[in-house]
Amino acid sequence: MSKSEEKLQNNQEIQGIIEEINELRSKKNAIILAHNYQPPEIQDIADLTGDSLELSIKAKKTDADIIIFCGVSFMAETAKIVCPEKTVILPSENAGCQMADMLTAEDLRKEREAHPDAVVVTYVNSTAEVKAQSDICCTSANAVKVVNSLDADTVLMTPDKNLAKWVERNTDKKILYWPGYCPIHDKLMTRHIESVRRQHPDAVLMAHPECPMDIIEMADFVKSTSGMLTYARESDNKEFIVATEVGLLYPLKRQNPDKKFYPAFDEMICEDMKKITLVDILNALKGQCRETTIDEQVRQKALMAVENMLHIPRKG
Ligand code: SF4
Repeated sequence: MSKSEEKLQNNQEIQGIIEEINELRSKKNAIILAHNYQPPEIQDIADLTGDSLELSIKAKKTDADIIIFCGVSFMAETAKIVCPEKTVILPSENAGCQMADMLTAEDLRKEREAHPDAVVVTYVNSTAEVKAQSDICCTSANAVKVVNSLDADTVLMTPDKNLAKWVERNTDKKILYWPGYCPIHDKLMTRHIESVRRQHPDAVLMAHPECPMDIIEMADFVKSTSGMLTYARESDNKEFIVATEVGLLYPLKRQNPDKKFYPAFDEMICEDMKKITLVDILNALKGQCRETTIDEQVRQKALMAVENMLHIPRKG
């Protein structure tokens, strides 16, 4: 078989899988959610794309019975925390998050004992058990706002030290932090930025707050993934250096065909975010994957931390 015949056969097979997914998705009243870091073919077939909490909140408002969450385990857990009435399925059971795994509920219990006066603010990139031990959650978009809303002088931020350091720059409160980090963002170095800037001197640098502080200091803007998508859409700038997982380049380019986007470092790839395939989604819809479950007491406590974040009072 020639290469072009092979490609045609592959395309036909992919089309066949997508047709089966579409048929089962409507028959089972399922919704497919894809995080902004997922591979293009997954984002293309999703009903909703976005960041983890945004997706769970949007899914709650739908009448879908089943959520197929294309992301990593803490994201499927977050969907279950917010939508207990729905069946939530992560199509690849091996898709985890190295940062979330850096802090256990037991670690956090000990930290709380060591700092009894601190309010515990936990990034949504954490396990359900850790959320359940926290006073309030935050996202990368609202972390500064959440911390500044608290009636406390000392805050313990978990599990991401880099997000904590970004917040520390933007608050008068005393910030303690757990030394976790996202290995994908943490490997970005100033020399990578200097090299891309030399090649694209007119591009502005957008950095995710999971990046180390020396990168944050070089950035023109510090934004969450959703914040980067909004900023790129609304900005008059035409060229952008993107300091986050490379998967975000796909929706950025798709939404802004007249603008140019360059990865800050093309090795910023989260392998866990690339584990789910179209076949996995089809198998999940066929009922061949385990559903995400959370102990009800843990779920309720974790939900309280999430809801505390959603209801933070406006200041000023
Ligand atoms: S990019 Fe980092 S924070 Fe996100 S899932 Fe991967 S390891 Fe976790």
